[in-house]
Amino acid sequence: MKPLFTALGLGIAFGALTAMVAPAFAQQVNVYSSRHYDTDDALYDRFTEETGISVNRIEAQADELIARMLAEGANSPADVLITVDVGRMERAEAEGLLQPYTSEVIERRVPAHLQHPDKLWYGVAQRTRIIFYSRDRVENPPQTYEALADPVYEGRICIRSSSNVYNQSLLASLIEVHGEETARDWATGIVNNMARPPQGGDTDQLRGIVSGECDISVANHYYFARSLVRNVDGLTGSTDEIGLVWPNQSDRGTHVNLTTAGMAANAPNSENALTLLEFLTGAYAQGHFASQNHEFPVIDGVETTEAAASLGTFKPDTTTPTASFVANAPIAQSIFNEVGWD
Ligand code: FE
Repeated sequence: MKPLFTALGLGIAFGALTAMVAPAFAQQVNVYSSRHYDTDDALYDRFTEETGISVNRIEAQADELIARMLAEGANSPADVLITVDVGRMERAEAEGLLQPYTSEVIERRVPAHLQHPDKLWYGVAQRTRIIFYSRDRVENPPQTYEALADPVYEGRICIRSSSNVYNQSLLASLIEVHGEETARDWATGIVNNMARPPQGGDTDQLRGIVSGECDISVANHYYFARSLVRNVDGLTGSTDEIGLVWPNQSDRGTHVNLTTAGMAANAPNSENALTLLEFLTGAYAQGHFASQNHEFPVIDGVETTEAAASLGTFKPDTTTPTASFVANAPIAQSIFNEVGWD
């Protein structure tokens, strides 16, 4: 194992940098990924076995990967970009770092609402944003995202900061559904209902229910699912105290965010990039994504983990286009600033 890009003099200290040197002239594909699971090695090994294409992988935070691609410009070796939130893909898209792919396979396998309209990216795995509550202290938990802003929940809600891309995408979806004005009122209502200033990650919002600081929290489903199968301090052992609501089941369905993949604008190995993008929609890769992070597959016939399945079945929002989370992101940011959602 020798870091290829460092060897080329291109690599600087980027988070966890993982790259493998491919044999000279062999088929290869360069993946820039903000996923960081050790077991992803197995996924890419399988791809190499099936296709003969070796995978050079660089892992870092999405913003670092985007900065790197910008700095590399037309000479960027990046072929495929993978981010764990569509809001990050938006930044890559806005910077012109992606190119459209043409794939009958992806088109057929991935539901239309999980694909960019111009095929700049598609969803490889689904993540849902759930309402959690204290079973002891909350008699009537909110059943919708909209209801979280009801004054009846004043001083009771924990939710992370507006710099968090999950909340940006959620507000962007509310802008799409209700328009800017109603979305602004909603954000104002959430700020009024906060139990404490936004702090920590999604897991900290769940811990807040156990500690008693919060009665109601918003978090992605996999943070809760994780605590059911491995030890999460301040959470595991107390999950029975936490109830959950799949939001908006009687109308449009629960907000879904995505782990996304797309082809880099200057991909030197664009054919191999397409082969990898298609592989990620196959049963093996879909099962892998699910097993790593309790995410929901985008294709039929692949199971998620037992822990994620134990959260129950739900109706996802398939009517609000994922691309609107991207399009409405700038308005969402200005609303957060206006209403003082830190
Ligand atoms: Fe997350």
